[in-house]
Amino acid sequence: MILDGRKISEQIIADLAVRVAAMTADGTRPPHLVAVLVGNEGASETYVAAKMRACERCGFTSTTLRLDVDVTEEHLLQLIESLNSDTAVDGLIVQLPLPPHIDEHHVIAAIDPDKDVDGFHPTNVGRLSIGVPGFVGATPKGIMTLIEHYGIATDGHHAVVVGRSNIVGRPVATLLSLKAAPGNCTVTLCHSGTPDLARFTREADILVTAVGNPGFITADMVKPGAVVFDVGITRVPDPTSRTGYRLRGDVDYDAVEPMCAAITPVPGGVGPMTIATLMQNTLQAYLRRGAVECNETPDG
Ligand code: NDP
Repeated sequence: MILDGRKISEQIIADLAVRVAAMTADGTRPPHLVAVLVGNEGASETYVAAKMRACERCGFTSTTLRLDVDVTEEHLLQLIESLNSDTAVDGLIVQLPLPPHIDEHHVIAAIDPDKDVDGFHPTNVGRLSIGVPGFVGATPKGIMTLIEHYGIATDGHHAVVVGRSNIVGRPVATLLSLKAAPGNCTVTLCHSGTPDLARFTREADILVTAVGNPGFITADMVKPGAVVFDVGITRVPDPTSRTGYRLRGDVDYDAVEPMCAAITPVPGGVGPMTIATLMQNTLQAYLRRGAVECNETPDG
């Protein structure tokens, strides 16, 4: 089975658009997401543009603030401070990666946790790890939404996550291990220091891979009947494509797809879910801030 992230994300966005239209019919302002983009790196530009397009489709207001690649950390922190106190801003994201002279941790920690719709702030990471409500990162939450949507069994199953980044691997491992439904998995978190990786991946009922190495997970590393979430997105040169490249996941898709129970394609799997979930988080921030008088609940 193909886990069709594109289709599910379209449904989520259409649903959000209906809700926002109803909430703003009386002239109440819509949710507002601000993205700060430092420099003009191609992939970051593409991701921010996709997020802004999704905002438009949901009926949100969106703003992209572009800063020169040489901007000082101090200037960036001042901008974040002013956006934190701007009552017309509900969600605030700073597109990563940042140039090397800027400390990513300082920047993330400066964002108001109640506007941190990326779920990267230590307060939200802490909330996630103890299982209390907060903003959950868009990619990990998007994977959980796919699990829920397709009714994939997790309780008591063995989930193996390859990659331990703060934005994907670690929060996915946390979510899958929570005493919750979906969740309650036995989780193994693998990384570049894991000897004999295949020994672990072959044991996985649910395999999540977030490495960034195209074709890295081969068929002999996957248990027949496993459910595979391929988070990796790498641009590989392709002269036949209009852009000169195409996107590839971590998984050797053609070999793995026939022997697994379900798999996310790249593109069209986890990527679109990330964008749709960011939109859900932005609406959640808007409702939490009480920007609108309505019957909607923040986590609804
Ligand atoms: P990072 O580079 O931060 O993390 C990669 C992880 O892979 C690290 O934990 C690293 O281990 C691990 N790793 C590297 N080599 C191996 C190996 N040989 N064996 C086992 N583990 C290994 O990347 P991100 O988590 O930010 O992103 C991962 C991929 O997911 C990228 O392709 C990125 O583009 C994509 N991505 C996709 C998103 C989506 O919406 N679909 C969203 C975010 C990212 P170690 O910690 O030891 O270095």
